[in-house]
Amino acid sequence: MFANPRNAGAGSLRQLDSRVTARRKLHFFAYAWGEVSAPFAGAYWEALERFQRWGFCVNPLSRRCAGVDEALALYDEIVARRSELPYEIDGVVYKVDRLDWQDRLGMVSRAPRWAIAFKFPAERAETRLREIAIQVGRTGALTPVAKLDPVEVGGVTVSRASLHNEDEIARKDIREGDTVVIQRAGDVIPQVIEVVRARRPKGAKRYPFPRICPECGSAAVREEDEVVRRCTGGLICPAQAVERLRHFVGREAFDIEGLGERQIAAFWQDGLIKEPADIFTLRMRNGTFDPPIEERDGWGEKSAENLFNAIDARRHIELDRFIYALGIRQVGQTTARLLARNYGTLSAWHAAMKAAGDRDSSAYADLVNIDAIGPKVAEDILAFFAEPHNCAVIDGLGDAGVEAEKFVAPEGASPLAGKTVVFTGGLDAMTRAEAKARAEALGAKVAGSVSRNTDFVVVGSDAGSKARKARDLGVRTLGEAEWLALIDG
Ligand SMILES: [Zn+2]
Repeated sequence: MFANPRNAGAGSLRQLDSRVTARRKLHFFAYAWGEVSAPFAGAYWEALERFQRWGFCVNPLSRRCAGVDEALALYDEIVARRSELPYEIDGVVYKVDRLDWQDRLGMVSRAPRWAIAFKFPAERAETRLREIAIQVGRTGALTPVAKLDPVEVGGVTVSRASLHNEDEIARKDIREGDTVVIQRAGDVIPQVIEVVRARRPKGAKRYPFPRICPECGSAAVREEDEVVRRCTGGLICPAQAVERLRHFVGREAFDIEGLGERQIAAFWQDGLIKEPADIFTLRMRNGTFDPPIEERDGWGEKSAENLFNAIDARRHIELDRFIYALGIRQVGQTTARLLARNYGTLSAWHAAMKAAGDRDSSAYADLVNIDAIGPKVAEDILAFFAEPHNCAVIDGLGDAGVEAEKFVAPEGASPLAGKTVVFTGGLDAMTRAEAKARAEALGAKVAGSVSRNTDFVVVGSDAGSKARKARDLGVRTLGEAEWLALIDG
């Protein structure tokens, strides 16, 4: 028995023996494509038609809508037919039909701007909350989780639900033993919506949120205007160390095959890996382990050798992945890429972040001037570098033979590659966000204000002080027409 269709699909595809997969009789509707050697359609609808001609099954409920009214009518129609369908769905996805427009709209991180999902209303159920458990995350955040009497919601058995944070528990006055209403929508973790007060057991007490970390006993503090309470244990906190290592080897970071959550936890437990650099000395130190990795549970000669090779393969890594892997608060993939783009090399970035610790320095001004970084994110980055043990982690990786590659702008031949651009005033042909995305796609850095390091200021209508400052500093200004010529060039 599978818990839900998603697990059934994923579990069947993951079979090592493809004959087992074949016996599972999976069916799918083709709805997208990966890489193609040549364009095969000008519009999404044409792509679906071609899929069909090639013999793929395309969802018969798909439709090309000519406007908002048609799109909404389709939603109502699907809601009405939902229960008759021989498979589960959780909503309707709308896509921009023209593929050239899809390209132009682009993506935000990994979410397309040309598609949107309209989800059906969430499904709810009542159950008893047995216990409030506290999980400690990679950044030391204490997160409350509700442990529930298992209950079925929309075809899935749910036994845990999110409680968000300390304030949420207080506001809803959620107590252990309460009967609660939970909600599940799509793939997101189920949430506790409210307490059924009438069914509260006698003697149930208000929940006292812990002031110490349940993992390491360090004080858990909550800073002003923050909703989250965090463990201050840093490196000594097992939850943070293991979580930080997991993040480090995660798919978007170092992505080391064969070194997943389970292996990291086991190696940490046995003292083989304490910090990131230890991963890269595993092969060298393996002879000193008792027992060596190949003799451990779940390992053999071949898998140990494969692991060492997978680790060696990641000794050279893209700078943005390296930065992301460090797990600095608020530095996700997008910000890591921005930093890589702006500083180019690990040593330049590291030196600049150390210098930026002085808030009066030009290094600090440069950091907060990177568009989309700003003072708040800068504070988290600088807090990371203010801790000597964090700098030691970076140095340790270098000593262990890890090299972050110099960041290379995606299109080296572009006239904007490596240039710093500032936008001011409004453009007619595109929004500011679009202009920024185009500039970055062509390898430029987009800054928020004009300085001597600025290469171009793009001056739109109603431009103000930035245009004046550019003239004062002798920075080249471009009108909209010149800007368009430059990016089309
Ligand atoms: Zn802790």
